[in-house]
Amino acid sequence: MIQVAISDDDITVGKAGKLLELHRFHEQFGIPVSYFIIPFPRTEELSISQDTDLQRALDTIRADGSEAHPHSHRHHPFEWGYPEIIGAMEFSEGLCKAFADHRFSIEFYHDKDRMLQRMVEVVEEWKKFSGEESVGFRPGWGSFSCTFYEVLKECGYKWSSTRFASRASWHRSKGYPSEDVINPHVGLNPYLQNGLIEFPILGDFGFHAKRSDGPELVALFKKQFWECLEANAPAVICHHPHGLDSDDVDPGSGYEIYSEIFEWLIARGDVEFVTMSKLYDTWKDKDLSERLPAFDGTDLFIDY
Ligand SMILES: [Zn+2]
Repeated sequence: MIQVAISDDDITVGKAGKLLELHRFHEQFGIPVSYFIIPFPRTEELSISQDTDLQRALDTIRADGSEAHPHSHRHHPFEWGYPEIIGAMEFSEGLCKAFADHRFSIEFYHDKDRMLQRMVEVVEEWKKFSGEESVGFRPGWGSFSCTFYEVLKECGYKWSSTRFASRASWHRSKGYPSEDVINPHVGLNPYLQNGLIEFPILGDFGFHAKRSDGPELVALFKKQFWECLEANAPAVICHHPHGLDSDDVDPGSGYEIYSEIFEWLIARGDVEFVTMSKLYDTWKDKDLSERLPAFDGTDLFIDY
């Protein structure tokens, strides 16, 4: 059996209806989902603990076996370090400009005391919202740093799902050509980072995609799924409500692409759909190796 964890990012205040819509979509396949919810949205004054509709929606999805975990603080791209550069920054000229022009603000964000303060706010808000403590976390934009993993540990987290095992699905969903390779700095298998289990994200295969790109994206998923199977690694999918809607390019295309993927997975008969908590339970006692960052800087030299 191979474990497949379907996760969804970016539900936040005012999105109870969208959460229930996503829930109904997955329920028709009998698939539990782990939702990563933004505690303090950028453009709203309310936080998630003040959104009673969202709390009720959380009760509904939990009753059916799905779950939720905190996703970032306000979802600022530099909140927890630097975004997984090619996977995120190449899509956004605004993000590249912010990176180039706002170095002081970025360093301000990266100060450890401030990062810790943000995470404490997340922990408190999550408890108020969900009535539980989550031991798992996912940052926005795939942003991370050494300080981020230190802060996670100090705040009692046990796992994160932050890194992109491959950038191909994000690129191809957006119509950019991309080499189909697994990033050797991440890999497919869970590993330890500062003592926490990091569950790499395989990809999002319907992120603002066009229907015409669907066959290529489904084929890419199948190929990467087989690579997971060979590596004895779980497959973690991370889709997004706005990506599934694909209103900007081809409304509803994401749902069609994922329907095809889910039907193919179910028909195999060797797939166990799991929540991130179940994934953590499965992997927490395994003898995983710590991924030590390289500090000598030799990997930083590039041609100019
Ligand atoms: Zn996000």
